[in-house]
Amino acid sequence: MKGAMMDNTHEMLGTITALSHRFGTVDYVLGGGGNTSAKDETTLWVKPSGTTLSGIGPDTFLPLVRSRIEPLYAADPPADPNAREAWVKEMMQAAVQEGTSGRPSVEAPLHNAFAARYVVHTHPTWVNGLTCSQKGAEACARLWPEALWIPYVDPGYTLCMHVRAAIQEYAAEHGCQPSIVMLENHGVFVAGDDPNFIIETYDRIMTDLENTYAKTDVATHFVPTSATVVTDLDRARLQTVLGEDASYIVAAMPFAPAEGPLTPDHIVYAKSYPYVGPMKKDRIRAFVDEYGYAPRVIATEEAVYGVARTAKAAGLALSFAQDGIRIMQLAEAFGGVKWMTDAARTFIENWEVESYRSKVST
Ligand SMILES: [Zn+2]
Repeated sequence: MKGAMMDNTHEMLGTITALSHRFGTVDYVLGGGGNTSAKDETTLWVKPSGTTLSGIGPDTFLPLVRSRIEPLYAADPPADPNAREAWVKEMMQAAVQEGTSGRPSVEAPLHNAFAARYVVHTHPTWVNGLTCSQKGAEACARLWPEALWIPYVDPGYTLCMHVRAAIQEYAAEHGCQPSIVMLENHGVFVAGDDPNFIIETYDRIMTDLENTYAKTDVATHFVPTSATVVTDLDRARLQTVLGEDASYIVAAMPFAPAEGPLTPDHIVYAKSYPYVGPMKKDRIRAFVDEYGYAPRVIATEEAVYGVARTAKAAGLALSFAQDGIRIMQLAEAFGGVKWMTDAARTFIENWEVESYRSKVST
């Protein structure tokens, strides 16, 4: 019995690893974004915080005891958002099976709310063209009538509880859980017992979007992404104003970056707002004074720069800026872009859990 169980686990972890790699490409996630899980009756295996879908292996998945996750759903959380997320983190850490180490993704309790064996959560640019748009909900209902649409909710505990309740309501109405959950200004969850079902569902979503974008004539061919040089003068200017926050600078050909927050990950990796203007020290200093942070994305007429403390973070800042402009172009197919609200943006800016992730994964 035990042996058979271990074989099943082995196979399941192999399957979720293959799914993670398949959906760990730049078409689906950037940086440490997205997460995947597999489960049986008693155990939930989740992608640990600070890992990437493309880099994960069968042994990387963190086993959580499901019966220890359940109390989270019934408990009374602290009212303060930071205390609440710290409380969730502690409960999730306590759910980690003895003899293993690692930090469960903040979305772990949400994965557990799905009954399906496999769950693949990603942030595809094409999908976010819809989720970050004015008419995303309508378009979602039209394209995928079986999908569950979730209006924007703060990530972490709030999102988990909200989606869980929505899944239960959906199940009561439809007699089964949803296989597609679309999250406004965030991304998509696809759940299923069969890995091929997950692959086919994602393929269908992407094909439907491809057809819609083609029909509505939005630009699916994107802004220039080729790298360009950073001059010594610009480097010196940035480092004078931003200090070690400009230790690493990468640059691409110019484009107009999204001037607002699109999704939590865009805020985490590229900050809510870019600096747009000439490469002038006093102007950049004024930005820092106004926003209270060093810009990660700087757009001049000559180039767009990703600027950060590490080479990886600078590269990701630029990648998210490029992703952001792509999302804006695609959102034109659904009535134009819809920014995150100030309250939603502020929550992310203050979120310790996310800052932890951006620290470990950049
Ligand atoms: Zn996500």
